Amino acid sequence: MQRHQLETCSQPCTVCGGSNVAVLATTSRSGNALRTVICQDCGMVWSDPFPHNPRSFYEDDYRVAYKGTFTPKPKHILRAGKVALSRRALLGKWIEKPVKMLDVGTGGGEFAYLMQTLGHDVSGIEPNKGYAEYSREEYGLKVQIGFIQDINQAPESFDLITIWHVLEHTENPHDVLTKLHSLLKSQGILVVEVPTIEATCQSPKSTFHEAHIFNFNLATLNKLAEKVGFTQVEHKVSADGANMTVFFRKNAINESAKAQQNFTIPGNADKIIKIVKNHTAIRHYLTLWPYQRFFNRMSKAINEKLATADFVSGKQLLDKLYT
Ligand SMILES: [Zn+2]
Repeated sequence: MQRHQLETCSQPCTVCGGSNVAVLATTSRSGNALRTVICQDCGMVWSDPFPHNPRSFYEDDYRVAYKGTFTPKPKHILRAGKVALSRRALLGKWIEKPVKMLDVGTGGGEFAYLMQTLGHDVSGIEPNKGYAEYSREEYGLKVQIGFIQDINQAPESFDLITIWHVLEHTENPHDVLTKLHSLLKSQGILVVEVPTIEATCQSPKSTFHEAHIFNFNLATLNKLAEKVGFTQVEHKVSADGANMTVFFRKNAINESAKAQQNFTIPGNADKIIKIVKNHTAIRHYLTLWPYQRFFNRMSKAINEKLATADFVSGKQLLDKLYT
């Protein structure tokens, strides 16, 4: 294995427990200083030190920083409604019969509402008060305001848990997965979707940003889930290579086996470093991705204007979209 310049880190690697890190980047996509390190023993990538307090950031500031609003605007509901339909399609065989499910990071409630209309028994948890309250009032959803660590649900409550684009934002993905493991029934299914650090469809300077504290590839996500007591049963990568959706089955945790296991991933750090270093602006603008992105964005904006012109309520918009 290649050894890169060793640096210090303020906390050990969440996957393998090691502290042999190299610095992968020093700026974020907004051009601010953001120190991103990679564990040389397993390839886990994280912002070190954390750029903000993850908890207070998500309680109130996140939606405002990201979208400039505390309740979803019509175009956001439409967008999220379309995403919800694609997520349901991704779930495929795992939702053939009605399930008792939890959606972590419910956001404006569009996906949870879709699943509820399809006959599933859905609960949600969302730290942002404005979004959580909106989803309860607008769609009649059961959504707790808060973080997953504070959820008021008994152990072994759910057949299925979905966590879409949340894990990369959390302060401790290991503890989040451990919590989800306890909430699932025996043999229950966990669906995790996160961006992959191997993606090259975005501009190279957009790879790292303050909101994504942890950056996974399939190997590190699988290893962390394995450590907590899950086995991967399926995985899908989006057409543009940006996101991975990974399906895990809950196993019983064998504490003595867990203590003996080695969670390093030989070669993974070198692989990721190579992908990130080779993803240069010149190469990126020689691909079709940036141009495709631009045209998609333009046509999306026009379609959204048309589709939300006669907006009455979120519920009416989604009911029309979902039928
Ligand atoms: Zn590691």
